[in-house]
Amino acid sequence: MEDCCKTESRGEAPSPKKCPSCGEMGRKVQRITLESLVTPERQWCIGEHDWLFCVTSDCVVVYFAADGSSRFNEDDLKVKVHQKHPQDPSVLVCYCFQHSPDSITWELKTTGDSTVLESIKRDMQGEGCNCEQTNPQGGCCLGNVQKVLKSAKFSLDQELVKGP
Ligand SMILES: [Zn+2]
Repeated sequence: MEDCCKTESRGEAPSPKKCPSCGEMGRKVQRITLESLVTPERQWCIGEHDWLFCVTSDCVVVYFAADGSSRFNEDDLKVKVHQKHPQDPSVLVCYCFQHSPDSITWELKTTGDSTVLESIKRDMQGEGCNCEQTNPQGGCCLGNVQKVLKSAKFSLDQELVKGP
């Protein structure tokens, strides 16, 4: 097994903040996000690193240490990551209030419209909003929800055009 927690010798600051697997720039994420989402068996690997989040959908790496010494794949997390499955209807997009592309499409189909954005904005005022600890990206989901909603509307329109 690969030693995920190997710490590079101090000295030259290595690495730009690029994903060691796909080479794309990572987004900063707080350690508290990893502490709540990484499985108990892998918690010890979190250490004192600065962590970044890789959003590339076909890249296996979810989090990588800024110094390149450690990484977590999706298998190391307790949840599936929206960015890694943008087309999968069952993978949550809003982790605090449990909205998925499936639930968004269902509402569109049954009511002809979606209240998901209003609903999240309203719920954000309450206690349940805790993106740092529930959402793998460590922040607000609204941007992702907007994209999902747009693409759900688009697919439904296409279905209507094509007919049954
Ligand atoms: Zn990557």
